[in-house]
Amino acid sequence: METKFVDVILPLPVPRPYTYRVPKDWNEKICEGARVLVQFGKKKIYTAIIYKIHHTPPQHYRAKYLSELVDEFPIVQPNQIELWRWIADYYMCSLGEVMAAALPAGLKVSSETIIMLNHHMEIDFDQLTDREYLIAEALESNEKLTMQEVSDILQLKTVYPIVQGLIAKQIILIEEVVKERYKPKMNDFVTLSPNYQSEEQLKQAFDELSNAPKQMHVLMKLLQLGKTPPEKVEAVKKTTLQKEAQASSAQVKALAEKGIIEIESLEVGRLPSYQSEPGEKQLNEEQQAALESIEAQFEESRKPVLLQGVTGSGKTELYIKLIQKTLDSGRQALYLLPEIALTTQIISRLEKHFGDQILVYHSKFNAQERVEIWQKLLKTEQPKLILGARSAIFLPMNNLGLTIVDEEHEQSFKQYDPAPRYNARDTAVVLSAMHKANMLLGSATPSIESRFNAHSGKYGYAFMGSRHGSAQMPDMEVVDLREQYRKKKMKTHFGEPLYEAVKKALSNKEQVILFQNRRGFSPFVQCNTCGWTPECKNCDVTLTYHKFLQKLKCHYCGYNIPHPKTCPACGSPEVQLKGFGTEKIESDIEIYFPEARIKRMDLDSTRGKNAHQQIINELETGEIDILVGTQMITKGLDFEKVSVVGILNADLMLNFQDFRAHERAFQLMTQVAGRAGRKDRRGKVFIQTFDPDHPVIKQVKKHNYDAMYNVQDHERLNFHYPPYYRLIKLTVVHHDKDLVLNGSNELAGMLRRILGDRILGPEYPAVARIKNKYHRQILIKLEKQLHLGKTKEQVASLITDFNLMDNFKSVRVIVDVDPV
Ligand code: ADP
Ligand code: ZN
Ligand code: ZN
Repeated sequence: METKFVDVILPLPVPRPYTYRVPKDWNEKICEGARVLVQFGKKKIYTAIIYKIHHTPPQHYRAKYLSELVDEFPIVQPNQIELWRWIADYYMCSLGEVMAAALPAGLKVSSETIIMLNHHMEIDFDQLTDREYLIAEALESNEKLTMQEVSDILQLKTVYPIVQGLIAKQIILIEEVVKERYKPKMNDFVTLSPNYQSEEQLKQAFDELSNAPKQMHVLMKLLQLGKTPPEKVEAVKKTTLQKEAQASSAQVKALAEKGIIEIESLEVGRLPSYQSEPGEKQLNEEQQAALESIEAQFEESRKPVLLQGVTGSGKTELYIKLIQKTLDSGRQALYLLPEIALTTQIISRLEKHFGDQILVYHSKFNAQERVEIWQKLLKTEQPKLILGARSAIFLPMNNLGLTIVDEEHEQSFKQYDPAPRYNARDTAVVLSAMHKANMLLGSATPSIESRFNAHSGKYGYAFMGSRHGSAQMPDMEVVDLREQYRKKKMKTHFGEPLYEAVKKALSNKEQVILFQNRRGFSPFVQCNTCGWTPECKNCDVTLTYHKFLQKLKCHYCGYNIPHPKTCPACGSPEVQLKGFGTEKIESDIEIYFPEARIKRMDLDSTRGKNAHQQIINELETGEIDILVGTQMITKGLDFEKVSVVGILNADLMLNFQDFRAHERAFQLMTQVAGRAGRKDRRGKVFIQTFDPDHPVIKQVKKHNYDAMYNVQDHERLNFHYPPYYRLIKLTVVHHDKDLVLNGSNELAGMLRRILGDRILGPEYPAVARIKNKYHRQILIKLEKQLHLGKTKEQVASLITDFNLMDNFKSVRVIVDVDPV
């Protein structure tokens, strides 16, 4: 028999698949897409994916034998590898880098892996093999073990199968950057206890309760709400039961203590069917027309369709209809959202319709949970709705019929670090085409690129211009800050109109959202005498003041120092706080509205466990009166009692040196404004600015997306930016400043020789030093007519040549295709 060889993908930035020799015994067992363990480098062991099986030994090296066979079936499907291939080509990275991003950590154990005990699992030691037992025991006394240590304990060279086995049994976990466990919202539910489900038993219960009329009433209500007959009584939400029976929590508990009922904490959304909203929602006329148009366009061609619908127009309702049809036809649906918008609000709304057909894939899930989802999908062709953030595009899908990218304008669909620097929205277009699936992009404020594609006919298009029902678009008021200052009407951050509106809203028991763009508004300290400002020692940035920590902190590397009492430069005690971030605003507002319950939502306040979700819950249940926040608050949330939204200072959003600054400012302000007023109450939005005549301010005020688009379209064409030109950004990085300077000049020169004036720079970016590494950027602008694939190959090979030069061997070049 001829010797078999396999090309494998290693989860590393190596340029091409690597070839190994297959031990004869495994000839019949290996298959493409399965995992194997291989030795790479001196001592390292990695999980690799079989890419190709063939009979050709490599030319330049002696192939090593595969170390271990992990699966005897593909864990990665051919269509997934095809997608990886596309990502690697398009985003100019290696297949291995794509694999590293695509496979959950639990599926790619390597010699670098560190294992620990899964404390959520009760270990049944009798079920373990002797070797497994030894590892589990060792982990009881050592918190963590490296693969080498496991090897030493077992006195065995190949320990991976045993470790894999323990992972499969959920006894051990792989260490990862500690992530918060995603926690769904829980509620207490009441059911009839199993001991009281027959007529006689119930009769007995009522007898027992003859001297506790209130409890008897609760029981009756439960039977009524949970619907008779008794053996079918379904769970009723505890608070609903209390309300209906006009009973207290203690009275319900008393019944539980008697063993008649049971109280159980259940995930909200996984409600018994009758608890979901009554009936299907009837689409309104505009929605129905949009739905029909979208479906007709799906029928006609496989083009993606852009659905532009103002906030509250019912885009989500359309998604639900389209998903339902897809599932009914026996195919899967993929629903992508920005991570931050993936809240229980949207999850439970979808769960009401699709119940346990939903699989949520969240970055806050731990490695084990992600492996489970992966394996579940591998095994099933059943209709499923997969709901996730950008990395959900990597899940195995057998039968994809529909992809939805919601909030498609969001830049967070693009991954910046590490490679693959992919845009999940654009990759989803390719994924859908591969599966011959329909594709819908949705937004109230589409990206210029997508809107352009719809104009040019590359995408289809549908539009919804009004909010559902009697809900109106919010009333927009521009507040001229110059005038407010001149007339001395400012109360710190509030011009008079906003201040009065907040006061009124609070007295009406309505909620307020205040928006402050984070960038450029971070508070810092400065010496009033000599002008000294503390800067990060590792990065070229000013340290940001954190009131809560009483510290000055770097947002790039985390470096921090205590808040100085005196100026270290001149000794003056006049060290003062300048600028204002959300934290400062929060404390200032307390002065004007001491009664109000104020919360802040920004990167810092949401770092903790479930903090983001918690703030949303509190806003929903009315425990917050004023929410102060950054971009985070703009994402897909729907609160009925928010009547006032204030954009505290619109100007800094507009004044960025970025060709997307105006597009972004428009999107941000429109999305924030969209949080105001739903259903029957018209919301009011205040935009405070020093430049009330700025075109973008006027466009936002008039809800005029088209005006914004037309201006942008014109500018992009004139100044050679997307969608008319494609961009590739190269960043040259090293800790030696001179090397970065010389290297970037050299590289730009090399590029100019083939691409001429399509090359811009090199230039230092706004923050030229991060974590003690210097950065310099080169921008490549390519006209659409140019053969993209070929140009990328040229650029890639120039970078390789550059890195082969003696001087620049250690200089890193980061390639970012379609930077955002
Ligand atoms: P969008 O996703 O465009 O912001 P949503 O789908 O969230 O809009 O709709 C806004 C609100 O209006 C939601 O509370 C939704 O339940 C409600 N709604 C939208 N369409 C309908 C409809 N046809 N019937 C009943 N309620 C609707
Ligand atoms: Zn000083
Ligand atoms: Zn720093």
